[in-house]
Amino acid sequence: MSTQSLEQTTLEGLKKLPEGEKHQDEKAGGLQVSQQQPYDPVQMIKNGFRYFMKHIYDPAVIEGQHPKFLVFACSDSRVSPSHVLNFRPGEAFMVCNVANLVPAFNQLRYSGTGAAIEFSVKYLEVENILVIGHSLCGGIKRLMELPEDGSTSNDFIDDWVKIGLPAKAKVLAENPHLTHEQQCGICEREAVTLSLVNIQSYPYVRAAMAKGKLALMGGYYNFVEGNFELWKIKYHIQSPEIIRP
Ligand SMILES: [Zn+2]
Repeated sequence: MSTQSLEQTTLEGLKKLPEGEKHQDEKAGGLQVSQQQPYDPVQMIKNGFRYFMKHIYDPAVIEGQHPKFLVFACSDSRVSPSHVLNFRPGEAFMVCNVANLVPAFNQLRYSGTGAAIEFSVKYLEVENILVIGHSLCGGIKRLMELPEDGSTSNDFIDDWVKIGLPAKAKVLAENPHLTHEQQCGICEREAVTLSLVNIQSYPYVRAAMAKGKLALMGGYYNFVEGNFELWKIKYHIQSPEIIRP
């Protein structure tokens, strides 16, 4: 079916509806007029872009980017920081991956994550790093369900979520009597803190923190209860203690 015919189908469907059902949810995709309308991905893209250009686009982006935040968030379709925290164009340099994990510095692996950290901290000089976990995270669930024998049943997912193994071990050791669901909920937060520890293994992060120019924060978006938890990582360099003979 051509693009034009898709559009025509939607418009013709709109014409057929009674007046009361011609509800136009502009933000959600324009001509989403009824649950009965066929799902139309092309129309959704068109309407989404038109909404963006009308309500969100800022021509100032042409001048360059000066984001204050580097944000790690889960790829989960329900938790985009642009929606949850209303980040506007130019405000946040974002990395989305399964379970919002930050691996420790390793030039032989995870170069995509390393490049994003190096670029945003070293060259864009972001002032805040925020790692956001969330409720009912499928990646963390998989981490918690990884077989004890080390076997894997996925090509990439299992190896990736193993970054969170120290968080899983801590949760299981400290909360052996909780249900699996409760342990997953705790691990969703512990994995954020682990990522904030891991990110300090990148030399540019340590250097910016030592100069007092970079703050680390953990976040947790709970879409079940409808709230957002925020915590800061304190970093102190103490005055030297002079030891005399
Ligand atoms: Zn997730």
